[in-house]
Amino acid sequence: MKKFWLLAGILLLVAAGILIYNQPRQLEVYFFDVGQGDSTLVKTPSGGTVLIDGGPDRKVLRYLGKSLPFGQRNLDLMILTHPHADHVTGLVGVLERYKIGKVLATGALHTTTEYLEWLRLLNKKNIPWQQALAGQTISFSDGVRLEALWPNRDLNGLAVADLNESSVTVRIVYGRTAVLITGDITVANEADILASGGQVTAQILKVPHQGSRTSSSLEFIKAVKPTWAVIFVGANNRYGHPHGEVVARYEQQGVEVLRTDQQGTIKFVSDGTAWRRLKPWSLLNF
Ligand SMILES: [Zn+2]
Repeated sequence: MKKFWLLAGILLLVAAGILIYNQPRQLEVYFFDVGQGDSTLVKTPSGGTVLIDGGPDRKVLRYLGKSLPFGQRNLDLMILTHPHADHVTGLVGVLERYKIGKVLATGALHTTTEYLEWLRLLNKKNIPWQQALAGQTISFSDGVRLEALWPNRDLNGLAVADLNESSVTVRIVYGRTAVLITGDITVANEADILASGGQVTAQILKVPHQGSRTSSSLEFIKAVKPTWAVIFVGANNRYGHPHGEVVARYEQQGVEVLRTDQQGTIKFVSDGTAWRRLKPWSLLNF
């Protein structure tokens, strides 16, 4: 009898192993619950990794540990949308602990401690730098493509009146599915991006700037045509984000609004045909 159970146990393990091994390769997007700030991780079907912003503190390190394969200490691409503290601070800790293949950023001038530390570590570790500019594409061998939509000029070393307006904006495409990551772009930038004629449609839109009323124009929402609008926002933040008017504007267009202060970390996966929303880190996710 003992032998029977042992055999049954082994068979069950083998079956589970085959099931896990054969799960379809998918694009995964995690919107980490970093409070009042942004941090998005993208995992491509072949295991490529892109981290966009790091949030306002070191929480991102814990989330990365949970989301990446056990023991993985490297990322293919790190994107800093703009140097504000709620985007760059977490990336300093990531630079300390992870090997980064390449950085995509604007290099806009800013002199806060955390941004200067981030630049210093990039330099010290000799991490290749790609100047962020609209029109660029970064492709993965599995068919995932990053299309940069903003900024539309080289800002390296330049003082920018409003750093939010310098935010790197990327559309990440896999098959017929896409997600649009917007940093803190403003209504004026949204209009410029639309005027440039770039493709902006995406089923998932990372809402610019915590759902502030300085972004998310009706024209932009209509052009992106998202099914879901994801808002990175801290609970009871002192800015009153997201703005009620902005949330209503999305909802009136039939867009489902998801907020990290209400949902925690938000995860989507795509097989190239459609997105599915999954619980992050659940063993039953496949
Ligand atoms: Zn900002």
